[in-house]
Amino acid sequence: MNVVTTIADMRTLAESHRKKGRTIGFVPTMGFLHEGHLSLMREARKSCDIVVVSIFVNPTQFGPGEDFDRYPRDEKGDREKCEAEGIDVLFIPSAAEMYPPGDSVSVPVEGIADILEGASRPGHFRGVATVVARLFTIVGPHKAFFGQKDFQQTVVIERMATGLNMDVKIVVLPTVREQDGLAMSSRNSYLRADERRAAASLYRALSEGEGLIRSGVGAASKLKRAMRAVLEKEAGIEIDYLEIVDPESLVSLREIEHRAVLLVAARIGRTRLIDNVLIL
Ligand code: AMP
Repeated sequence: MNVVTTIADMRTLAESHRKKGRTIGFVPTMGFLHEGHLSLMREARKSCDIVVVSIFVNPTQFGPGEDFDRYPRDEKGDREKCEAEGIDVLFIPSAAEMYPPGDSVSVPVEGIADILEGASRPGHFRGVATVVARLFTIVGPHKAFFGQKDFQQTVVIERMATGLNMDVKIVVLPTVREQDGLAMSSRNSYLRADERRAAASLYRALSEGEGLIRSGVGAASKLKRAMRAVLEKEAGIEIDYLEIVDPESLVSLREIEHRAVLLVAARIGRTRLIDNVLIL
């Protein structure tokens, strides 16, 4: 495995692979790798000749007072996991490398980036789109792999890639969960034992909504009430938003007819978690 830290080295390596006609699969992450990340790497490994993983805790996607400073890091463990997955190139740039002094370019995505997560975390998706656009330009992947866990992020990135005419296929893969349904997340490491138990109610609430839809309930207000009731049974959960939206436009639905995504964001103690289920 090649471990590179500079943009110049990353670019040279990617270029040499492309010149040899090899396809490049790319998995951008913020590290502290878990099975969710590994599932993306395995899919990339299956469908591309070369797999590039990046680890970069991107400062511009964190708001003031958010967890940038305490975001969990484990570079040694992450390297070992990437090595074990047969990753070809691990790109670990510094913040100064990605955001040099005097840097003044960002990539705002209008509209869909301002609702839901974007409303709760102003500037978040501008930071995400900016760093992903830069990483795509540096790595030049044929395919890039993202988790459905961050549903709105996948929509923002698809819009960005299409809008900027980027020649990359965005692949979205299912959420990997713990046994009790909690979506795997690097942030789960913040949870105390009691909070960890309570956190499973996010997926229970989403499953409740999904079950009701499958049994014929279509009114979003009724579904949201039922989902909210599941979360409210658990002490210490503060709902940030609970929404049912169209998966392409992210517009709130009043009646579920066919496709929908149920989204939840909640705070448990100091930890903010998000999850969703897609109904096709
Ligand atoms: P992060 O390191 O949290 O920025 O995530 C990097 C990538 O892994 C993103 O595309 C996430 O959506 C994806 N990811 C995070 N958690 C999961 C999960 N539980 N299942 C599948 N993909 C995930």
